[in-house]
Amino acid sequence: SHISIAIDGPAAAGKSTIAKRVAKKLEYLYIDTGAMYRAVTLYVLEHGDDIIQNISNHVHITFGINDEVYLNDKDVSAEIRSPEVTNNVSRVAAIGEVRTYLVDMQREISTTSSVVMDGRDIGTTVLPDAEVKIFMQASPKVRAERRLLEETARGNDIDLETLTAEIIRRDEIDSTREISPLVQADDAVLLDTSHLSIEEAEAKIIQLVKD
Ligand code: C5P
Repeated sequence: SHISIAIDGPAAAGKSTIAKRVAKKLEYLYIDTGAMYRAVTLYVLEHGDDIIQNISNHVHITFGINDEVYLNDKDVSAEIRSPEVTNNVSRVAAIGEVRTYLVDMQREISTTSSVVMDGRDIGTTVLPDAEVKIFMQASPKVRAERRLLEETARGNDIDLETLTAEIIRRDEIDSTREISPLVQADDAVLLDTSHLSIEEAEAKIIQLVKD
């Protein structure tokens, strides 16, 4: 009945930009699972690691109509993109209790609607039966340059070197953690967006959905 599209890959490969457009075109729900890990991280930074054991009693995450992220009914869409959250999210996302809580929530959402879900473990763990699985890749240079554009647009003054280091560090932690590490699912289609426009990448995914 409901269709699921899983889009995984390393940081800044273009997942959320493309996933959002595909979801809009197909009239599916777009779910940014990275935003969920970021919201939990924001809460943990403010309240301490102790709450993690009891995370479901503390953290309530919802999405707004324009993909705003609400943490306990407060719009935290901007805050979850701060350098502090970015630098801590991979550590928090490696914790079992955090993953169990969010993965359950993500699966639940996929039973209520057709979804385009982007993350690191969607095709391997969250939705192993997804109808279409994409593993989105891009060269480190292209990814750092895309992040630089994003950060500049947000008014943040960060240099390319710092961003490259942050991306590499995050990918390293995400790929080597014990629980559902970042890895391409056996049945995922590899999509390298290094030399693709947004429109081209979107068209490739739409074509896979039609096939
Ligand atoms: O997608 P984004 O870069 O915002 O994700 C932030 C972080 O959240 C990732 O670096 C990763 O540590 C974690 N994450 C995850 N599993 C997902 C999505 C994100 O572990 N499905």
